[in-house]
Amino acid sequence: MTTNTHLNATHDPALKSWVLSANIAGCDFPIQNLPHSVFKRAGTNESFRGGVAIGDQILDMQAVAALGVFATDLGAIAIDAGKPKLNDLMAHSRFDRSALRAALSECLSSGSPHAAALADCLVPQSQAEYGLATQVGDYTDFFTSYNHMINCGRIFNPQNPEVPSFKHLPIAYHGRASSVSISGTNVKRPWGQINPPVAAGAVQAPIHATCQALDYEMELGIWIAGSNALGRTIEVDAAEDHIFGMCLLNDWSARDIQGWESTPLGPFLGKNFCTSVSPWIVTWEALSPYRTNLPRAATDPKTLPYLLPKDTKPAIDICCEVWLKTPTYPAQVQISSTSYKHSYWTPAQMIAHHTSGGCNLQSGDLFGTGTISGLAGNTVLAEEGCLVELSSGGKVDVTLSSGEARRFLLDGDTLTLKGSCTAAGHARIGFGEVSGKVLPADSRSSV
Ligand code: MN
Repeated sequence: MTTNTHLNATHDPALKSWVLSANIAGCDFPIQNLPHSVFKRAGTNESFRGGVAIGDQILDMQAVAALGVFATDLGAIAIDAGKPKLNDLMAHSRFDRSALRAALSECLSSGSPHAAALADCLVPQSQAEYGLATQVGDYTDFFTSYNHMINCGRIFNPQNPEVPSFKHLPIAYHGRASSVSISGTNVKRPWGQINPPVAAGAVQAPIHATCQALDYEMELGIWIAGSNALGRTIEVDAAEDHIFGMCLLNDWSARDIQGWESTPLGPFLGKNFCTSVSPWIVTWEALSPYRTNLPRAATDPKTLPYLLPKDTKPAIDICCEVWLKTPTYPAQVQISSTSYKHSYWTPAQMIAHHTSGGCNLQSGDLFGTGTISGLAGNTVLAEEGCLVELSSGGKVDVTLSSGEARRFLLDGDTLTLKGSCTAAGHARIGFGEVSGKVLPADSRSSV
């Protein structure tokens, strides 16, 4: 038995809930998980409010807060967990958030004296419509998967595939917060400026056109807890206090637009038309049983001290799956599967680096991990987290298990990401899913 100092009674694999669907093997939301979202009953004029997933139900935290079942000192955080946006919940200290989780775990456990009262606060997930969990102030998308970097480098820059700074700092660009969208939001194929390949010596002739290389990126989202004042840094060993939790994130990408516009400042219209997130945010504390070592080879450069965590298990093993439903095949098919544990940089290192220059983070901000890929070439089930890797930059067909082929996404395709964590001696927890359907581009008479 290894000692994991991050574990407590809420992670006990023997815990069962009086919400019986939470006890079914394979359920994403057993009592050991307890993720947060905002929701309302679909098709009603109810207001959005915060909820906690348990089995196939949502515990309505606005209703729970009104019951007063929690100790007095938890009153404020319980109210914030039921608000229509969770920025205030995320502003609470790690200690307070942990106390809320402990209280939720106790009152949802089999035999809780509050079971009868709380049963009236349950809403079936099948009846729910979800909202974006926070007012996202800022969104930063990172580039932390070594495999994604090297797979792309071998396609686009085979003579020199490794980005020189990659193993020294968690690379990122500042994304667009306004187009962060909840799962289920349709994604319209964007227009943009594209520079088609030309023969040597010919004049470059960019066109304004619809994206013909629409891609997804399998990422995880990191929701920021608390804030730091402008000019104040967050040390790497304190950075986990600033992680509220994680969700699934699809960074939709227009590769042909991205390729032409990104030098020298990075992605612009190639990425800013939509970023999809899953409704359920799995708390950082719920992820404790799945912690693992940070992958480092003896030949890797020394990590600079400000990015070096003391914790020996700062990485998290999260299984990340990509599924595609095409308009012509009756079922969704799996494209890939890999683990977040291969990532070179952790969320804490991203926070430490992001703030090391004095940039202020705020409660409810969103980070993307960057595309999560395994090594190229797995012939059983691919591990690459986007189509541009799988199709070698759009040059070869990706054959789906349905027999259909894709190089990039076609109109009518629905892309779904799923995630889960398993570890010997611990409960399995899941992330639910994030899904989005590709709609045709606007028709425009004048280009
Ligand atoms: Mn990305």
